[in-house]
Order: sequence, then C-alpha cells, then structure tokens
Amino acid sequence: MEGSDAGPPYNEGRTTPKGGSRQPPNNMTVQIFRDRPLDGLTTFGTRATAEAYAEASSLESLKELLAHAAESGLPVRFLGAGANTVAMSRVPGLVIRIAIKGIEKKPAPDGGTLVRCGAGEIFDDIVKMTVAEGLGGLENLSAVPGTVGGAVVQNIGAYGVELAERLQSVTVWDSKAGEVRELSTEECDFAYRHSILKTPAGEGLVVLSALLHLPARWYPVTGYRDLDAEIAARGLTAVTLTPAALSDAVRAVRSRKLPDPARLGNAGSFFTNPIISKVHWRELLTKHPSLVYYKLGGGRMKLAAAWLIEAAGFKGAVRGNAGVYENHALILVNRGGASGEEVLALAEDIRRRVREMFGVELAMEPVVLG
Ligand SMILES: Cc1cc2nc3c(=O)[nH]c(=O)nc-3n(C[C@H](O)[C@H](O)[C@H](O)COP(=O)(O)OP(=O)(O)OC[C@H]3O[C@@H](n4cnc5c(N)ncnc54)[C@H](O)[C@@H]3O)c2cc1C
Repeated sequence: MEGSDAGPPYNEGRTTPKGGSRQPPNNMTVQIFRDRPLDGLTTFGTRATAEAYAEASSLESLKELLAHAAESGLPVRFLGAGANTVAMSRVPGLVIRIAIKGIEKKPAPDGGTLVRCGAGEIFDDIVKMTVAEGLGGLENLSAVPGTVGGAVVQNIGAYGVELAERLQSVTVWDSKAGEVRELSTEECDFAYRHSILKTPAGEGLVVLSALLHLPARWYPVTGYRDLDAEIAARGLTAVTLTPAALSDAVRAVRSRKLPDPARLGNAGSFFTNPIISKVHWRELLTKHPSLVYYKLGGGRMKLAAAWLIEAAGFKGAVRGNAGVYENHALILVNRGGASGEEVLALAEDIRRRVREMFGVELAMEPVVLG
C-alpha cells in the first residue's frame, strides 16, 4: 500500500498518540499513517504534512475510516489526485484519499453509452479509453488532471464542455444519513466550477462513483480560438475531425499553454473568472479599453481574471518560492520548495491589487487543505 514511506501506521507500533486522546483502534483493516508528508499527493507539491492520512479503496474502508475519525474527534478532509488543492504546512485531522476504482460500460437506452467510473479513477484515463473506442463526448476535457471524484466536485470544464453535460448521475456516501444515495445532475446543482459538494448542503457527501452518459450522435464542440487554429493547422475537416483527432488537438493546445505539474507545481487556474454587473463593466471598459470579457445573460459580464492579473503587473511575478507563471497570469506556480502559506500570501497580494485597481474581487479556485 502506498504510504509505507511515512511514519508508522496508527494501527501498529504507536502506543502514545499525540495529545494522549486519539488512541487508534487496533481492529481496523485500513492503515492510518500519522504525520504523513503529502509529497507527491498534490500537483502544487507544496511542503505539507497531515496529522493522519489513509486511503479508502472501497466503501467499507471509507466507512471504517469515518467511524474512526468520529470516535477520535479527528476532522476529516478528502483528497483525490490533489490537482485542485493547495496544502498548508500542517494539515490537522485525517486526510482520506479516495482511491475507489472500477470502470463499467454499457449501452444506454437512447443509443448512447453509459460509463460508470469509480471516484478514484483518473479522469483522463476515462477520456483516453472512450476516445480510443471511438466514443465521443469527453474529448474537450482531455488532459484535465485529477480523479473522477474531484472532477464531479469541481464540475470541470474546458473548451466549451462541462462535465455536468456528460453526467447522468453521481453515487455518494451520505455520511450524515449513513446511506448510499444516487444524485441526479439537478440534485448536484452544477454550475460554473460548482456543485452541491462545495456547499454546506453537500457536507458529509463523498463521491463513490459517477455515471457518465456519452451521446448517441456525436458532434464536435469547437469555437475556441486556440483550438480552432490547431484544428486548422492539422488540416482536419468535418470528415477527419473524430473524437480522437479533437482530443489530440486539445492536448497539443494545453501542453503549449499550461505548465506540466511534474516539472512546475501548479493547480491550473488559480482564480475563477469574476462576474460583475453591466454598470461596473462599462466603467471599467471606459478606463481600460483592452479589458477582456464575456457577455452572460441577465445583464452580467464575466471578466478574464488572467487579464486583470496581468494588468495588475503580476504576470511572471516571483515571491520567494512561489510565483505567477510567465506565460499565463492565471496560474500560480511552485518554483521549488514553496509552502502553501507562501502561495496564499502571493494570492492575497494579487487579490488586494486587483481589488484596488478594478474594484473586482477574485475568488480562489483551488481548495486549501490545512
Ligand atoms: C495543469 C492543470 C490544469 C487544469 N486544468 C483544468 C481545466 O481545464 N478545467 C478545470 O475545470 N480544472 C482544471 N484543473 C483543476 C483540476 O484538474 C480539477 O479541479 C480536478 O477536478 C481536480 O481533481 P482532483 O481529484 O485532483 O481533486 P483534489 O484536488 O484532490 O480535490 C479537490 C476537492 O474535491 C474534493 N474531493 C475529491 N475527491 C472527492 C470525493 N470522491 N468525494 C468528495 N469530495 C472529493 C476534495 O476534498 C477537495 O475539496 C487543472 C489543474 C491542473 C494542475
């Protein structure tokens, strides 16, 4: 089991737990590691240690861990692949990495395809598998890092497709009710980078699996400048633009634009694009004619957070071991050995300056673990 490089498991060799009150039960089947460095468990790669850490590879192990945490008074935090997480130096409580696997495919009644995936599956593996089988629907989400569970929580989106559009339902463990529940997409309350799991109403819900629905009739989703240019450069036509060809094009564009977390720690976009009123937008546009924005319904406008950050002078900024990626102002990076605290201090500087210059509040996209 991964984690054997960490301190001793709670369930073996630890007779005097810190604080004296968190005596781990010795009848557990899942190992819990104390003072576990989170090295390699987040794409940001900040230096971090969890008070306790365990992996749940089944519903049974998850229930066992939750019961132990409740008995011991340990707060619980969940982790997928850590691609949307900034971990602080010390993470109190029990971090449970959801490692529930399994992929099952069957025809849908409408002629499409249903794919049930365990929450711990790597989402991009599902994209690769479906695309390789000629099944369309997920190709625009190619190369988005993270697990299926994390993808549901965040309702990942890229190049005009959001996961919610390809989901039929989500199976969760409701730890408050003590039961497994099947949530419809309506119940998941999906919106831009949002789901019920990010709200107080979703507290205690753990994603166990997701049921994807791939359409019977596929059509390519295009219309993004970089992607369209790549499609044109590859000479793809209505005939040759298959799900696999579109997936390859998306991967090529992303690899040019985004830093590879294996080489430069990051969590993708660090801030969401802020939404403001039309009145505020008009004021800003008068002062800053190069402002980048997108029109939304209901008299609201979405601003490009990257433009705001660049205009505030932060593109390529360096603050100790943390920085802003020189090719993309929306991406904060770990230049090597950064702590979560350093990253958050830089993020706060950016937020303050953007607020002062534009009166716009930037909201952080990644989750703070700690
Ligand atoms: C280089 C790069 C590019 C990216 N590009 C995109 C992009 O194009 N579009 C996009 O939307 N995102 C993007 N992201 C962000 C990231 O890929 C997604 O948010 C992804 O869904 C995170 O999944 P994860 O498993 O790593 O989640 P984690 O970071 O491990 O967890 C995120 C949150 O989900 C919770 N969670 C995880 N699993 C479960 C579960 N089973 N049950 C309940 N809660 C759970 C965690 O507690 C945490 O609150 C990018 C990130 C990187 C590093």
